[in-house]
Amino acid sequence: MKALIGVTAGLEGEKISLHGNNTESLLRAGALPFIIPYTTDETVVEEICERVDGLLLTGGEDIDPAWFGEEPCPGLGTVTPQRDWLEIHLVRACLRREKPIFAICRGCQILNVACGGTMYQDLFSQRSDLLQHMQRSPRSHLTHAVKVTEGSLLQQITGVSEFKVNSFHHQAIKRPAPGFRIAAMARDGVVEAVESPRHSFVLGVQWHPENTAQTDAISRRLFRAFVDACIKQKKGTFQNGKS
Ligand code: MN
Repeated sequence: MKALIGVTAGLEGEKISLHGNNTESLLRAGALPFIIPYTTDETVVEEICERVDGLLLTGGEDIDPAWFGEEPCPGLGTVTPQRDWLEIHLVRACLRREKPIFAICRGCQILNVACGGTMYQDLFSQRSDLLQHMQRSPRSHLTHAVKVTEGSLLQQITGVSEFKVNSFHHQAIKRPAPGFRIAAMARDGVVEAVESPRHSFVLGVQWHPENTAQTDAISRRLFRAFVDACIKQKKGTFQNGKS
């Protein structure tokens, strides 16, 4: 049986929105994705996390800095309070059940915030000497390099120590959540991926592999590794505490 993967989506007024590349990348990796509806009912969140074999946190708009104890800075973009609440509760409910989580861009940030980490609300006004992290090239074009942390899950998956990614973010992780480690960094020191060594598969990437999965082998490997982890979780063959 295929792994059932819950996928988060954006909220624009009454409309739930998601780039199709997210679900397509999961379908191509052999999973059965379903889009998680908006709810404020914690028992519904718990039941969703009980039933799914994994969680994909997708890209989107900014996170309300109140979640990491800050006032909004001038460069903060649009926040979606319902989405912040939902995704933070999904992350915590999935982690309690050892369900694999793969988190993309905003997803990587919300994963970190849900676990107690902090953020740059607006990199470009809070840091200097930066690379272009909000690229103007097409979404499928790989623009800046990331250096992979030796011994990380990300290194196991990709099999390389450095590779190129696309980049569409003005927020970034400042302090990784307790128990998390940096899995990749750009040459300017911006955190590009985090993971939790205490869990079997909890990985967040700051770039958008869903936009490059058709052309880039490393992007496909990431989705494949996530889906494999979800299948293992489903079969109960994961041991906790894997490093
Ligand atoms: Mn970047």
